[in-house]
Amino acid sequence: MSKHLIAIKALGAWFQHNQRILPWRDQPTFYRVWISEIMLQQTQVATVLPYFEKFIAKFPTVEALAAAPVEDVLLSWAGLGYYSRARNLHQAAQLIVARGGFPETREEWLEIPGVGPYTAGAILSVTLNKVEAILDGNVERVLSRVFRVDRGRGDSVYKARLWRWAWAAVRGGVRVNVPPNQLNQALMELGATFCSYRKPKCELCPLSSVCKAYGAGEPEAYPPKKKPKQWVKVEERLHCVLDGSGRVLLRKRGKDEWRADLWDLLEENPYKNAEKIGEQEQRYVVTRHKVSRVVEIWKTSRVLKAAEAGVAVEGSQLQWVSLQSPEVPMGSPLRKLLQTLN
Ligand code: SF4
Repeated sequence: MSKHLIAIKALGAWFQHNQRILPWRDQPTFYRVWISEIMLQQTQVATVLPYFEKFIAKFPTVEALAAAPVEDVLLSWAGLGYYSRARNLHQAAQLIVARGGFPETREEWLEIPGVGPYTAGAILSVTLNKVEAILDGNVERVLSRVFRVDRGRGDSVYKARLWRWAWAAVRGGVRVNVPPNQLNQALMELGATFCSYRKPKCELCPLSSVCKAYGAGEPEAYPPKKKPKQWVKVEERLHCVLDGSGRVLLRKRGKDEWRADLWDLLEENPYKNAEKIGEQEQRYVVTRHKVSRVVEIWKTSRVLKAAEAGVAVEGSQLQWVSLQSPEVPMGSPLRKLLQTLN
């Protein structure tokens, strides 16, 4: 048996004894694995755990998710960020119900909104034990180190080489009785635990005998650095209009706008007699965007009818929302701002 196959076998045994207990692992159904994989895109396991349990409790099946209003799904997502994932999940659930069940091939999964090659491979290998490769950030770190894969010939060559190693690993696993669901999860788990960005635990690692970066004494030199991000600067001036009863006026963003379907502050203050009582500046980063937001805070003395509170203002996408319990989907920066005003 080659030294690589011996290492793969050792990785499988390591996983058996070291895997973390995660809620989507004990019942690896299509629905649970799919939801967990979407939540885990760009988000750490520790952050996802409480969201996953609550989400599954609220939408226990794909049918329940498909039938729910998109607003409820966005509300359950509040705090996880990258809301396009929640919108895609909702749209995908409707598609899956309409087609009569979950896809069972890579090609079919790739037609589902929000699912790329990594997610398709992860879902199929974990649920059906299919021979499918995966390549997320954790697996990339492990494989780039084991094979010292660099970016010298560009990003696409780099990624293609890693995918080839990922396929070789899963096929090697089959030869030594480490099935795809074990092998792929073991690679992810090793990347998430032992093979960390800083100070990997190489002495204890089941792949140390074949790891070239470790052998060369430079595990932390991999994965090779990416080109710096090209930031897009976004500058906004918004109006936060408060009434005298602890409510804020929000606007629902349209389907074609940035932050679609989320509730946000207004571009214009509709109350000409309102008094400006302050200004706050917020700076934050979302994917490639560096956002700088100036929020003008206005107070209107207009007396609201009781019936108007908490319901959409007729004929528009405006709504008065309680500052104390703003139960509408919104981004984290707005939620934080409202907490300071409550
Ligand atoms: S030996 Fe070290 S660098 Fe190589 S895969 Fe294991 S933990 Fe990562």
